[in-house]
Amino acid sequence: MRGLEAAHGRILVFGYIAIDIEICLTLRHIVAVKDTATLEPINHQKFDPEMIRADFPVLHQSVRGKPLVYLDSAASAQKPKSVIERLDRYYREEHSNIHRGVHFLSEQATEHYEAVRQKVANLMGVADPDEIIFVKGATEGINLVAHGFTHSVLQPGDEILITEMEHHANIVPWQIAAEQTGARLVVIPVDADGIIDQSAFRKLLSEKTKLLAFTHVSNALGTINPVREMIDAAHALNVPVLLDGAQSYPHMGVDHRDLDWDFTVFSGHKLFGPTGIGVLHGKRAWLERFPPYQSGGDMIEKVRFEGTVYKGIPGKFEAGTPHIAGVIGLGEAVDYLNSMDRLAARKHEDGLLEAARKGLAAIDGVRLVGNAPDRAGAVSFLVGDIHAHDIGTFLDADGIAIRAGHHCVQPLLAKYGLAATARASFSFYNNMDDVERLLAGVSRLKQFFL
Ligand code: PLP
Repeated sequence: MRGLEAAHGRILVFGYIAIDIEICLTLRHIVAVKDTATLEPINHQKFDPEMIRADFPVLHQSVRGKPLVYLDSAASAQKPKSVIERLDRYYREEHSNIHRGVHFLSEQATEHYEAVRQKVANLMGVADPDEIIFVKGATEGINLVAHGFTHSVLQPGDEILITEMEHHANIVPWQIAAEQTGARLVVIPVDADGIIDQSAFRKLLSEKTKLLAFTHVSNALGTINPVREMIDAAHALNVPVLLDGAQSYPHMGVDHRDLDWDFTVFSGHKLFGPTGIGVLHGKRAWLERFPPYQSGGDMIEKVRFEGTVYKGIPGKFEAGTPHIAGVIGLGEAVDYLNSMDRLAARKHEDGLLEAARKGLAAIDGVRLVGNAPDRAGAVSFLVGDIHAHDIGTFLDADGIAIRAGHHCVQPLLAKYGLAATARASFSFYNNMDDVERLLAGVSRLKQFFL
């Protein structure tokens, strides 16, 4: 592991997150690879929320007789026209299987598929595109790493360190890995505001820790965790880190040159791309050490009944026919993100989130769940003792889509003595009307129930 750290020494280009985002985005704009698109080029360099909103067809409809207010982007983000049209074009004009064909369509599909690997590497600040593995989503990415650790790292008595705010996707695979190897799952506590207890973290990190796996942004509370400090602390003890980027990539630049994680994952559908596609980035030495996660066609160099020689990365981890359309659609989503001023987009989102938090907190009987100073994307709340599902159903009748439930963080909610919360989550395509509709809906709900 020491060798790994040395071989992949970080390049400390940027000092602070705020500066990072700006510079990283600029870098990305320079290196972004544009597909052979026939679509009108998009340019939102001057961030105009209403122009952005016009790019998302699904937002321009009525549901239950009311104009839709979509506040569930943390569960899944909507898709811009360019992504929808790219998928349509792929299936109408370009579809073919990849890697094995000698005909034009197959070669073209292979070229487009592999170009997205580079595009995603650029988005993540990753120098070696072979370290980018296409998976179904964040869940599959974490499962792949857990499988690798189960079969090539973990021994009885080893510890896997996670936090109390993890999504089930970053809990259950580690429970299974622990069961299968005799390792132990150790959990870092989170306080009443939804902040990871940093002193407990430092105490729990030890020679026994074989992996720190934690989320960048909490899907339930919106907390942005101090990832840089936590990764540095883990690396100081040669502990590798898996960063769950499912909720951070949609809101901010997340760059490997700054954070130097060992593994990270995100889901395409939360990043304005298709469902069923996601990304795992892992450092080469780790991925080479892991056995294949699935096996079969396309992941081999040579098969004999006596034995099989696998491909190197990334092929070793992409068995069978992959989600070609998903990858190509994801590439278009990355282009869309690269076309906009993401710092301005973030500012816009933050304005909406803070207006929603302030407005909700001002309604008598409303309780916000989670109060970390650094946050992005989502606000969880309760209204009196009204069940979260009733809040969700009442707002839905008003055309307002929020999330109600345990948000796949049951252990975190159980710690707060809760089974469910209502959650409104925001993206750059939302506007202040959406916030006002939410607040008006919650006020009416209160009058109705209380
Ligand atoms: N991690 C976090 C923080 C999430 O919010 C989610 C989904 O909500 C996941 C992992 C799992 O993502 P997916 O269901 O797309 O695999």
